[in-house]
Amino acid sequence: MASRPEILFRLFSDPVILDGVGKTTSDSLKKLGISNLRDLIYTFPRSVIERKRLRTLQNIVLPAYATVEVEVIDIKLRNTPFQPHRITVRDEATRFDLVFFSMHQDFVTNRLPIGHRRVVSGEVGSYNNQLQMVHPDYFLAPDQAATIPEIETVYPLSEGVSKRSIRTAIQSALPLIPDLGEWLDKSRLSGRNWPNWKRAIWQMHAPSSAAGLSPDSLVRMRLAYDEIFANQLALKVIRAGMLGTGGIESRGSGELSEPIISELQFQLTTAQKRALGEILQDMAKNRRMYRLLQGDVGSGKTLVAFLALLAAVESGGQGVLMVPTGILAHQHMNCLRDIIGDRGVRFEVLTGSVRGDPRSQLLEELKAGSIRILIATHSVLRDEVGFHDLRLVVIDEQHRFGVAQRLQVADKGSSIDVLMMTATPIPRSLTLTQFGDMDISVLDELPAGRMPVKTAALPNYRIEEILTRLKSALQEGRRGYWICPLIEGQEISTCAAAEARAKSLGELLGENLVGLVHGRMPAGKRIQEMGRFRNGETQLLVATTVLEVGTDVSDASIMVVENAERFGLAQLHQMRGRVGRGNLESACALIYSDGISDEARKRIAALRATSDGFRIAEADLEIRGEGNLLGYQQSGFVHFRVADKSQRDELLEEAANEARSLLDSDPLLTSERGLAARVALSLFGYDSCLEMLD
Ligand code: ADP
Ligand code: MG
Repeated sequence: MASRPEILFRLFSDPVILDGVGKTTSDSLKKLGISNLRDLIYTFPRSVIERKRLRTLQNIVLPAYATVEVEVIDIKLRNTPFQPHRITVRDEATRFDLVFFSMHQDFVTNRLPIGHRRVVSGEVGSYNNQLQMVHPDYFLAPDQAATIPEIETVYPLSEGVSKRSIRTAIQSALPLIPDLGEWLDKSRLSGRNWPNWKRAIWQMHAPSSAAGLSPDSLVRMRLAYDEIFANQLALKVIRAGMLGTGGIESRGSGELSEPIISELQFQLTTAQKRALGEILQDMAKNRRMYRLLQGDVGSGKTLVAFLALLAAVESGGQGVLMVPTGILAHQHMNCLRDIIGDRGVRFEVLTGSVRGDPRSQLLEELKAGSIRILIATHSVLRDEVGFHDLRLVVIDEQHRFGVAQRLQVADKGSSIDVLMMTATPIPRSLTLTQFGDMDISVLDELPAGRMPVKTAALPNYRIEEILTRLKSALQEGRRGYWICPLIEGQEISTCAAAEARAKSLGELLGENLVGLVHGRMPAGKRIQEMGRFRNGETQLLVATTVLEVGTDVSDASIMVVENAERFGLAQLHQMRGRVGRGNLESACALIYSDGISDEARKRIAALRATSDGFRIAEADLEIRGEGNLLGYQQSGFVHFRVADKSQRDELLEEAANEARSLLDSDPLLTSERGLAARVALSLFGYDSCLEMLD
């Protein structure tokens, strides 16, 4: 990345450059998400072993690690493969055994010859009231004993990488750490007695006692603060960059939206009116809008977005709605068609599957300005997609897009207003780290008349009951979804499972009543199947999680989720949100398999207990912890690796203030400290902010 400060180049290189790290280790590290030295030095020890040097093990309190000098007095090699070798040794005051299960006997006898002195170090245990040391970590001649560390760091163990090789890798990375300029306020450092960054990293990996690892140690506090500070600084830079470039005053006349609102079969909710008012006001200002519209599933965000897009059109410009999937793009188009009717506003869909002539023509008309609203997937980000007078970008399901993509689409014109939407309720405690002090409109109210979805959970051996009820519900003319789970990493079998399920349900319920959509279908087929379900030709739609976001068929009232234990809580909430959208009473059945984990049980219980997305998010946070909640790859969520929840609560406000005052005095980060702060931004992966500054 061009914007990364040179001083960090080495930290972002592959661990394979390190002494003692080969291709195999480096590949295994990558599987753990450690792809460069930066990741490596930010992998902190989980605990330490204090190998106290003792004169004797007599009177030792177990469990304990110890280092002690001994003389080898007897060797009892094993008789059967299941027995260990036992080597009896004597320290100053007592005897004990060294026990080896998996060592070759020659190795043992060569390394521990009778009559020789050795310094041994390991975990002391007892067996039949006798002290023993099973597989000592070290057994060296006394003149080599200095290489045994008194305090040894233990890193999280993971597949394919041994404790020792991760420690070796880190130890050889540490000397390569550069001196970085100080990005924090000097008086804060001295006030809090924090070391500089480099020392802090070193001390993290060479603590003088277990206390050095505790979350409230000075070192760890500093490193957590760095991370929070970089996060807050990044969000403020993005915001300032967005707002700083002036803005276009897009003032909707209401000539389109007013008649449309009055023709709706329902009233806008108070929350929708309020949010729309805030958005229109922002658009009319001569500064850019940078606003988040947050609302639970079914709260009616889409309509608010459409009305905002119409305001952009009324003021003479164009608007884009960017969505994560093609299905969603087409659904939005259908919905927009219903709303706009024949009012002569041209709108089109652009997805990856629009190709050839239709595509070239569409791109031309966009540039000429005759297409006024574009509903598009990621494909809108491509360079050749340009506009005549783009005024507003709406990003639906914003967390599906990375920060860079969000910025990229906002760059399709000058000073475009940006509205992001999210249906993933983020626990209130996390909003600041995800969005900073971004303007937020909240739809905290569902449209009137919604009835809560009755949610039941059943073990899979009771599937017959569900099928019976499903059958009679379909006979009554009701409609719904049957969700088959993703089989991790195996899209083909996932889709095959869904196909098989659709077939068996078709045989049971009537083939023409059952439709199917999944990720490996050609896009055209998928859209056609959605259409057949939407207009009632099919009554039960079997689907994989492609349905998770956004699908809106208001009279669908049944949701069956197979292997519900495999889904995350937020995902289950999203899926259940596909029903209960109209004024029909809806039902959701969660089918789970035998022997599910406690966590899965808790998720299902939480979903049954409430339909409030915020409460579900809080429950999710509690069940899984924050890292997992927000850590999904590819998502635009920020995930802290150093700071834990309590540190965040303690340090966030201070870090936000410090970031603000730094930017007040040095908005482009060009002073000495500003340049150091750029390094901090890059260190924590906010490189897109640096591009924005330049
Ligand atoms: P979200 O995207 O927030 O999950 P949608 O925008 O898909 O929710 O809206 C859910 C459903 O509610 C849609 O069918 C929409 O037409 C309908 N709807 C939107 N606003 C209202 C309202 N004020 N009253 C009744 N129904 C509404
Ligand atoms: Mg939506």
